[in-house]
Amino acid sequence: MSQVFHRHCHTPLRTAVRGDGVYLYDQDGKAYLDASGGAAVSCLGHSHAGVRAALHKQIDQLAYAHSSFFTTEVAETLATRLTARAPGDLNHVYFLSGGSEAVEAALKLARQYFVERGEPQRSRFIARRQSYHGNTLGALAVGGNAWRRAPFAPLLTHAEHIAPCYAYRDCKPGESLFDYGQRVANELEQCLLTVGPETVIAFVAEPVVGATAGALTAVEGYFKRIREICDRYGVLLILDEVMCGMGRTGTLFAHEQEGIHTDIVTIAKGLGAGYQPIGAMLASDRIYDTIANGSGFFQHGHTYMAHATTMAGSLAVLDALEQEQILARVNPMGEALMTRLRERFGEHPHIGDIRGRGLFQALELVHDRDSKRPFDPRSKLDSRIKSAGMSRGLMCYPMAGTIDGHRGHHILLAPPFIIEESQLDELTDKLYDTVQQVTAEAFTEYPD
Ligand code: PMP
Repeated sequence: MSQVFHRHCHTPLRTAVRGDGVYLYDQDGKAYLDASGGAAVSCLGHSHAGVRAALHKQIDQLAYAHSSFFTTEVAETLATRLTARAPGDLNHVYFLSGGSEAVEAALKLARQYFVERGEPQRSRFIARRQSYHGNTLGALAVGGNAWRRAPFAPLLTHAEHIAPCYAYRDCKPGESLFDYGQRVANELEQCLLTVGPETVIAFVAEPVVGATAGALTAVEGYFKRIREICDRYGVLLILDEVMCGMGRTGTLFAHEQEGIHTDIVTIAKGLGAGYQPIGAMLASDRIYDTIANGSGFFQHGHTYMAHATTMAGSLAVLDALEQEQILARVNPMGEALMTRLRERFGEHPHIGDIRGRGLFQALELVHDRDSKRPFDPRSKLDSRIKSAGMSRGLMCYPMAGTIDGHRGHHILLAPPFIIEESQLDELTDKLYDTVQQVTAEAFTEYPD
C-alpha cells in the first residue's frame, strides 16, 4: 500500500516517470496524451527547454530568499511584465504558491481595503452557484459547488450565491441570449438589495467557469452589467482566472474579452505551467493605495511567496507564451479542436452541449438531449470516464458539478498550447471511444 495519502484512498495510481511535449509516460513506458493539461495547468507541455534552463540557472544562483527580507530581480521583472499586460490599473502583484492561496489573499485584501476605508460593516461576499474558487476554507466558502462544500458547511464563512450565467440550462425559450445575461446579472443587484449593499465586500466570479461547470462562458453583456452593478453599490469585483487565465481562452487575461476592468484578479495554473507551483493576485491602484497610505501593511503572507526559483520559471513561461508565439496558437488550435468536437459529438445522444473558448473546452454529458437531465449520480460517470480514458492513453478531466441538485457531468479539455493537428485527431478519436463506451454502459445500468 502507498504511504502517500492520495485523495482517492482506494484507486491505485500509475506512476508517472517522464514528460515529453503533450505526452506523459508511466512506469511501463505507456504514453498518455495530456488533453487536459493536468487540471488546465500544462500550457507549454511537459518538456519546455527554455523553462527548464531558466529554473536550472536560478537554482544555481539563488534558490530562495524570504520575501520579508529581500525582493529578487526575477520577482520584480515578472510583476512588471504581468502588470504591463493586465487590463486597467492592476498594477500590483502579490505572488503566492497556488490558486486557493491567491483567492484567499484576494478575499482578505478586499476585506482589509474596506476596513482601512472606514467601512468595517462590509463583511460579506457574493459569488455564484456552479463555481469553484479553491479548497481552503475561505475559497471553499465563496465557491458554489454544493458537493464540495457539504462536509465543511459549519466551518465556512457565510457567502451569498446567485445563479451562474449558464445559457444551455437556464435561458428561457424565446428569450434572447443578451436578455438572459442581463436577467441573471441582475440577480446580483437583487441579492445586494436583499442583504444590504453596504454590508458587501465583493462579488467573486470566474470569467469562464472551469472545474464546476466545464468551460462555461458568459453571454455577451453579462459581465458589463455585473461591473455596472458593482460600481453602483461600491462593491469590489474579484475575477478568479486561476484556471481560465494565462492565455487559456486566447488572451493572457480571460476578462480582456469581456471588455471590463476588474479590481482584483487571481491567476495560477498556467502561470507556472506545471514547472513550479505558483499563484498570484493582481490588485488595482485604488486598493493598493488605500492600504499603502493607510496602515501600510497587508496583513497576510506565506513562507514561499515570490519564491525565487518559481519566479524564474514563470518568467520563462511568459517569455515562451509571448516571444515564442505560443499564446498565438490558442485561438487557431482552439478552433481546430472545436471543429473536431462538433463533428464527432454534435449528434451524440449523450452530449448535450459542446462549449468553450480558446483551448478551454468541454462536453456536457446528459442522460438524454431533450430533457437535458444529467446521468444518475450513481453511474459515477466522472471516475469511469477518467479510467476509460487512461486505459486508452488519454488524460481528460471529467467532473461532477451540481445541476438542480443532481451531480451533472462534464469533460474538460485543456491541452497544452503546443498541441498539433494530428494530436487533436488522436485526442478526439480516443475521447470518442471513451465517451461511447462509458455512456453506453451507464445508460444500460441506469436507463431511467
Ligand atoms: N480557482 C479556480 C477557478 C480553480 O479552477 C482552482 C483549481 N481548480 C482554484 C481556484 C484552486 O487552485 P489550487 O488548486 O491551485 O489551489
